Amino acid sequence: MGADSGRATRRRFLAGIPAAVALVICGSVAAEEKPVATGDIVVTLLGTGGPEPGLARFGPATLVQAGGLSLLFDAGRGATVRLYQLGISSGKGIDAVFLTHYHSDHVAGLPDLWMTGYMFGPFGGRAKPMRLFGPSDGTTAPGGVTKIAKGLTEAFAEDTRIRQADEKIDAAATRIEARDFHGDGVVFDEAGVRVTAFAVNHGDLIKPSVGYRIDHGPRSVTISGDTKLDENLIRHASGTDLLIHEVFAMSAQLAKLPQLKPIADHHTSPEQAGTVFSRVKPKLAAFSHIVALGVNADEIASRARSTYQGPLEIGDDLMRFTIGDSVSVRKWSSELRKYPD
Ligand SMILES: [Zn+2]
Ligand SMILES: [Zn+2]
Repeated sequence: MGADSGRATRRRFLAGIPAAVALVICGSVAAEEKPVATGDIVVTLLGTGGPEPGLARFGPATLVQAGGLSLLFDAGRGATVRLYQLGISSGKGIDAVFLTHYHSDHVAGLPDLWMTGYMFGPFGGRAKPMRLFGPSDGTTAPGGVTKIAKGLTEAFAEDTRIRQADEKIDAAATRIEARDFHGDGVVFDEAGVRVTAFAVNHGDLIKPSVGYRIDHGPRSVTISGDTKLDENLIRHASGTDLLIHEVFAMSAQLAKLPQLKPIADHHTSPEQAGTVFSRVKPKLAAFSHIVALGVNADEIASRARSTYQGPLEIGDDLMRFTIGDSVSVRKWSSELRKYPD
């Protein structure tokens, strides 16, 4: 069953498709697909929202490219769509996925990423299992990513069975390789890219929950995950070039609602985030996972400014940072469908 029948299937699939379209399907879409290993780190905010299913901000997901690798941190709603906008396959374009914790807004896009990734086409093409890293509680019970891998495999067994039989998709491509880890420390070290996980405080009942720091030579980016103001994060982010932090902001009126208090207690206010930025002193601070209830981005910025006067960006979907000697920022143009030159 193998390559020959797979090629035959592809020929059938491509028959009747106009040549130019077939070229796009067959060819690599992406100069962007694998970044040149320049020593820089390129960070793209794929989704900067929280659980709200809005159009402006997709669910939390951050792409970090360094050393020729593309690593995805969280897989919120729409991550696969944003990758495709960039010309990056959710299959062969992603080398590993790291989850910060198991709230739905951080994993809702994972089934899509996994299953679209093993399909044939410029959006798929993964030949190997999807590597999935996530924190466990340190007990002998299966960790979160182990449960997700098992559950998704069972839930979507019909799709993997059909595509293996019908489209000759390799069985290996449909697997999820789960890597649970516990405690602070290095969880990934390949091609000069080191990923360190560290516990953050997202509330007593929301454990495990981690942030990640990614180092590549002298460059680094730190991603907070979901957290309150956290000393462990401040410690691990020390000396980082780019600090991407979550933020939760409400209007004074909404802050009076008792239903919102427990949610606010799990997150970081703009003023608290400003305090974190002032203590870490990154070259650039940026907000992502922006949950703004009754307030706008300007208000978030001015509230953060009350405790922090350094460089700050309010993240938008597809905002891109290049970490070299300095950290530069590019904003995606929806009209041009690319980053303006
Ligand atoms: Zn969240
Ligand atoms: Zn959360």
